[in-house]
Formats: sequence, structure tokens, C-alpha cells
Amino acid sequence: MVSKKELAIILSRLKKFHKASVKLEQYETDSEIASDVLWRAYMSGDISDKVIVDFGSGTGLLGIGCLILGAKKVYFVEIDKNAVNIAKNNLEEIKHFIKIKGKSDFIISDVSDFNKRVDLVIQNPPFGTKQKHIDKKFLEKAFEISNKIYSFHKVTSKGFIEAITKDFSFIISDILYFRFPLKKTMDFHKKRVEKIEVGCWILEKI
Ligand code: SAH
Repeated sequence: MVSKKELAIILSRLKKFHKASVKLEQYETDSEIASDVLWRAYMSGDISDKVIVDFGSGTGLLGIGCLILGAKKVYFVEIDKNAVNIAKNNLEEIKHFIKIKGKSDFIISDVSDFNKRVDLVIQNPPFGTKQKHIDKKFLEKAFEISNKIYSFHKVTSKGFIEAITKDFSFIISDILYFRFPLKKTMDFHKKRVEKIEVGCWILEKI
């Protein structure tokens, strides 16, 4: 079994988006942050032997982390075919040096079209700065198919998340706060590294 530090290192070595789409709000979760959240989920018993979906899986970092930590099966659901190919290759590479016993299923589709019941949804969805209400679409689907959700959002979305969580009869178990480095890839950013306040909401069905 890997340590939390080792997990962060492994995730940091995964291939990134070739040309990140601004419209799809493609940016990888920072590997240290991903490792923090995955470790917390693992310690809470939410990963081992669980069926998990990674919504908007991008290059696969969160879902691959779940497989490394012993998930039974991970669905990678992502609308962008190129990103799915990168995620598939990333998982193949990892399998050369880590034994993965869980299954994986890569699905190129909009999250709204996914209809399987799972034990856990883990997602770092677009924050809705380019496509309005896309974060809502991800959350609604997550509430529909799972009783437990780990979901990243901007801290400024706090009020909206509280309201929607209540609407779907879920509770907020915890919020883990981070500062997201939004670096490189998106060249319209003036500063090289911009940080935004982000939280990972842990949501549970009442
Ligand atoms: N989960 C990855 C990527 C996060 S970026 C990580 O944590 O590193 C958000 C991802 O959501 C992008 O890869 C984008 O292509 C994808 N996405 C955007 N809209 C989507 C939709 N409607 N359905 C599925 N995936 C979508």
C-alpha cells in the first residue's frame, strides 16, 4: 500500500491535458490536493472495495487515485474524447509499477447521461465560469446516483451548495479548504500563477 506522500508523487507524474479546453474548464486538480482528499476518503472507508464514479474525469487523476487506494471499480465519465485517451494511458502506465485490482470503465459522455448507482461520486467539475450552472448539473446527477459525494467548488459557491444539498436531502459532513493554483495552460491569465479559494464538500444522504 502506498503512503499519502507517495500517492501525491505518483499523481504528479501523470500526463496532463495536451491542450486544455477553456470552454470545458479543463484543469487538473493539484496532485497534493488530490492526495489529501483521496486520503481522507480512504481513511473514512469510502474507497476500499467501493464502486466509484469520477465525473469530469479529465486526465484521470482522481479516479486513478481511487484505484490505487483499492476501489473495486471506477467509472471515468468525461465528455472530451482526447482527455479520456490521456486518462486511459495514464492508468496503463501506472499499472506497470502498481498492482491495481479494481476494474475501470471509461465512458465518453455528458455526466447527465450516466445512470448507474454507485457508492461514491468524486468530482472536480467545471466551476461554471464558462458554462453557466454546469456545477449544478454535476451535483444534481451526483445526488441522484449516490449517497456520498466528494465535490470541489469555489468557496464563493458556498450558499448555492448549502441550498442544493438541502433540497436533495443531503447533509454537508465537512468542507476541506484549499487554495487552487490555476497555473500555466490557460494563457489568457495575466499572472503566471493565480490562486483561488476552493473547498471539497463532503456530502452525505440523510
Ligand atoms: N477530474 C479532473 C479534471 C477536472 S477539469 C481532475 O480533477 O484533474 C473538469 C473536467 O470536466 C474537464 O476534463 C472537462 O472536459 C469535463 N467536463 C466538462 N463538462 C462536462 C460534462 N458536461 N460532462 C462530462 N465531463 C465534462
